[in-house]
Amino acid sequence: MQVAQATVLLDSMLEGFASRSTHNDLENTFFSEDFEELKEAGFLKIAIPKELGGLGYNLAKVCAEQRKLAYHAPATALAINMHIYWTGIAADLYKMGDKSMQWLLEEAAKGEVFAAGHGERGNDLPVLYSTAKAERVSGGYTFSGHKMFGSLTPVWTYMGFHGMDTSNPESPKVIHAFLPRDSQNYQIKETWDALGMRATRSDDTLLNGTFVPDKYIVRVLPADFAGADMFIVSLFAWALINFANVYAACAQRGFDLAIENANKKTSIALGGKTMAYNPMVQHTVADMALELESLIPHLDSVANDWSNGVDYGGLWPSKIVACKYHAVESAKKVMNLALDVIGGAGSARGNEFERLYRDVAMGGIHPANSLLTHEILGKTHLGLLGQMPRWG
Ligand SMILES: Cc1cc2nc3c(=O)[nH]c(=O)nc-3n(C[C@H](O)[C@H](O)[C@H](O)COP(=O)(O)OP(=O)(O)OC[C@H]3O[C@@H](n4cnc5c(N)ncnc54)[C@H](O)[C@@H]3O)c2cc1C
Repeated sequence: MQVAQATVLLDSMLEGFASRSTHNDLENTFFSEDFEELKEAGFLKIAIPKELGGLGYNLAKVCAEQRKLAYHAPATALAINMHIYWTGIAADLYKMGDKSMQWLLEEAAKGEVFAAGHGERGNDLPVLYSTAKAERVSGGYTFSGHKMFGSLTPVWTYMGFHGMDTSNPESPKVIHAFLPRDSQNYQIKETWDALGMRATRSDDTLLNGTFVPDKYIVRVLPADFAGADMFIVSLFAWALINFANVYAACAQRGFDLAIENANKKTSIALGGKTMAYNPMVQHTVADMALELESLIPHLDSVANDWSNGVDYGGLWPSKIVACKYHAVESAKKVMNLALDVIGGAGSARGNEFERLYRDVAMGGIHPANSLLTHEILGKTHLGLLGQMPRWG
C-alpha cells in the first residue's frame, strides 16, 4: 500500500492544530481531532520504510516534520512521537538487517498505534532498570507494575514497555515487550492532570500479572548500562532527539510571540513608538536569538549524523542526551526572556504564551533528566560509563 508523500502537514492542518491547542490544554482533553487528521494524512507512517507501506523518512527528516508540528501544537507532536519513535527504531533495525521488529512496522502500516510504557515512579535509570516485575511462564512473560505518563492512552492499540526478571539475582534481565490493547489483567487509570503538555493524555497503566506471548517480546537484555544494545541506543536516539526538536519548536514559537508583541505594544516613555525601539527589549531579543542560533544547528547536526550512520561509538549516548538537555534548557531560557518582553499579557490563562511556558517546563522531566544527563556525560568523558558498582 502506498501513501502519498505530499499529504503530510499541510498549512491548513497546522492552522487547525494551533487553533485547538489552547482549548485542549484548558479542558485537559486529548487531541482527538488532530490525531484523526494526522492518521488520515499518513503522518503516523512517516518513519516506516517505503517498501512496507510508509514514507521512509529517516530521523533527520522526521525531526524536521516534528518541529513544524510542535510549533503549532506541542502536546500533539510530543505524544505522537511515542508512536513514531517505535516505528523509527524498528525501521533503523530493519535497515541494518535486524528483522526482529518488522512485525511492528507491518502492524503500524495497517494502522495500529504504538505507545510507550517506560515511565515509572522512582526509576532513575529509565529503560535500563524497571520497577515492574517480569516472570517467565510457558509461552511468554507475565508483568506486574505501575506504568505512568502513558501519552496516547486514549488511542494506543499496543503499548511498548519493559519489566525486570530478577529470578536470577546475579544476572537480572530487562524484558522489552508490547502489550496488545485486548490483553487481560491490566487497567488504565485516568490520572493525567499535569502542569503542561496536557493534551498528551498521559495516563497510568497498572499491570496485574498481565501475560504477553513470546511473539511480542522484542528483547531480553542485561540490566543497567550493560543492556545498552542497538535497540536501546536507537530508542534513546529516536525518542530524545525528537523530544529535543519538540522543545526547540516551543522556544522558536515563544521567540516569535515575543517579537510580535514587541512590534505591536507601544511605549509611553518612547512617545508612542513600539517596544521594539526600547534598547533593553532589543538586548533581550538578541539573547533569545543567540540561544536559537546555537540550538537549531546542534539538533540538526546530531539528527543528520544519526541518519547518516556516523560512527561515534561509545560517544553516542552522550551526544543524544546532550542534544535533549540543550534543547530543554535553551527553551526554558528563551521562554523566561520572552516573558520579560511580553509582560503580563503572557501570564493570562488562555493566552498561547502562558500554555507554551508550562509546556516547556515539562521538558526536564523526560529522560534523560538533568541528573542522568550529567551522569552520562561525566562518566563517558572520564571513561567510567557502565562500570559497576554504579555509584562506587
Ligand atoms: C509530558 C510528558 C509525557 C510523557 N510521556 C511518556 C510516555 O508516553 N511514555 C513514557 O514511558 N514516559 C513518558 N513520560 C515520562 C517520563 O518518561 C518519566 O518517566 C516520568 O516523567 C517519570 O519521571 P520521574 O522519574 O521524575 O518520576 P517520579 O517522580 O519518580 O514519579 C512521578 C510519579 O509518581 C507518582 N507518585 C508520586 N508520589 C507517589 C506516591 N506516594 N505513591 C504512588 N505514586 C506516587 C506521581 O503521581 C507521578 O505520576 C512523559 C513525561 C512527560 C513530562
